[in-house]
Amino acid sequence: MLVTEVFSAIQGEAALVGERQIFVRLAGCNIRCSYCDQPEALERRPGPCRIERTPGRRDWQLLESPLPISTIAGAVDDLWEQLPHHSISLTGGEPLMQAVRVAQLAEQLSAGGRAIMLETNGTLVSALERIVPCLTYVSMDLKLASVDGTRVAGDTQRRFLRTSIDAGLTTWVKIVIGPSTDGDQFDRAVSLVAEMAHGPGAGLELFLQPVTPFGAVHSAPNPEQVLALHERALRIYPRVRVVPQTHKAIGQL
Ligand code: SF4
Repeated sequence: MLVTEVFSAIQGEAALVGERQIFVRLAGCNIRCSYCDQPEALERRPGPCRIERTPGRRDWQLLESPLPISTIAGAVDDLWEQLPHHSISLTGGEPLMQAVRVAQLAEQLSAGGRAIMLETNGTLVSALERIVPCLTYVSMDLKLASVDGTRVAGDTQRRFLRTSIDAGLTTWVKIVIGPSTDGDQFDRAVSLVAEMAHGPGAGLELFLQPVTPFGAVHSAPNPEQVLALHERALRIYPRVRVVPQTHKAIGQL
């Protein structure tokens, strides 16, 4: 598999914020968000990668990607045996870019009842269908063109969210907000969440994540903008929390 790193860290976003996870960061993404803080994970190509030997020590073993699935699974096992973790995060890049192999990896990683979380941009629906039996959590981004500069189809994101919810996975949605967030785009995204929050989707949570300046993005929304967007969301849907990227505030990876 094309991978950039495997390590133990503190989850800094959304519903599992503060939980200790093992992160498997896979290479390749099918879109390009302006604020992306993982530029080294965007291209689906061979290259250097690193595996942490001791949880949280950053004592990296340097290797060349692609790696066999068994090597990645073994690295996760080593970290888990040294420290109990809450769960394993499959992140990227977009993990579903390697759908067949990520399904095989998830099957191995979930052995013994370990919980697997998928961090995803919510665009590759058929790839999600392959992997759902091995997942516990799905953290899905809803993309706003006015913030990330991408043109992700709303209908694709609707089908992705529907697939995750109908599979019985614990699912939440994250919207990154910025200083130039378009109100109409924002309302449509929040309305999509509200539309899904019935039946098996009851309890669906929405997280607003103020953008962290990086790359081409130079400013975060100001406090008044964050409050205004939170209020705007709450008028459409009641279960909305604002959670910034806390791992960056405490100097984590
Ligand atoms: S979906 Fe994620 S990995 Fe892909 S470009 Fe956007 S922020 Fe980066």
